[in-house]
Amino acid sequence: MGAHRRAVFLDRDGVINQNIFNPASGEYEAPLTATDFALVPGALEALWRLQTAGFLLFVVSNQPNYSKGKATLEELAAIDARMRREVSAAGIALAGVYCCLHHPEGIAAEYSGTCACRKPSPYFLLRAMREFGLDPGHSWMIGDRETDVICGCEAGVRTIFIDGRRKGISGMGADWDAPDLAGAAEHICRDFYEQQRINGLGDAGRIPAPQPPA
Ligand SMILES: [Mg+2]
Ligand SMILES: [Zn+2]
Repeated sequence: MGAHRRAVFLDRDGVINQNIFNPASGEYEAPLTATDFALVPGALEALWRLQTAGFLLFVVSNQPNYSKGKATLEELAAIDARMRREVSAAGIALAGVYCCLHHPEGIAAEYSGTCACRKPSPYFLLRAMREFGLDPGHSWMIGDRETDVICGCEAGVRTIFIDGRRKGISGMGADWDAPDLAGAAEHICRDFYEQQRINGLGDAGRIPAPQPPA
């Protein structure tokens, strides 16, 4: 193994699971119920691949829908539980799942107003780096919003922007743009094994085929 403790930080909605069309707002948004939770195709294979390459996996998510009065805390907990269950059933370990429940203009008093943890704040990344002794120079943040990219930049990790709407060049200032989580994992693993090869470690840049347990 390399000497660096490294991690991939993942936004959740639009990266691990699909955003859902909300007729009320006309936008694709985070699921509001566990029933609406659906993994993005290829998500488990991508996470498995990152884990196999030795990255610790963290989920970092803004979840303001209780604060906004759009979902109950129980529903948010059920969605979180479903994600953890489906990921863990595939043999993938999440080192941490960090959620900001706040919103600056929320209507639920206890989660309204400014907070330290809402992305683009790098709060949770910095905390994980401290607690797990991670090397930011060998870590990554993957997200589908500009706030994810800013969050990663402020934490000193490399960033990948998921361009879910396939608009092409995002202009978000990320280190890399990928169409989905599978593409992001491909890029991170390619970079990692290339570094291993350059440093004379590992086996010549070979990217192992993703083989999640059944
Ligand atoms: Mg997102
Ligand atoms: Zn917060």
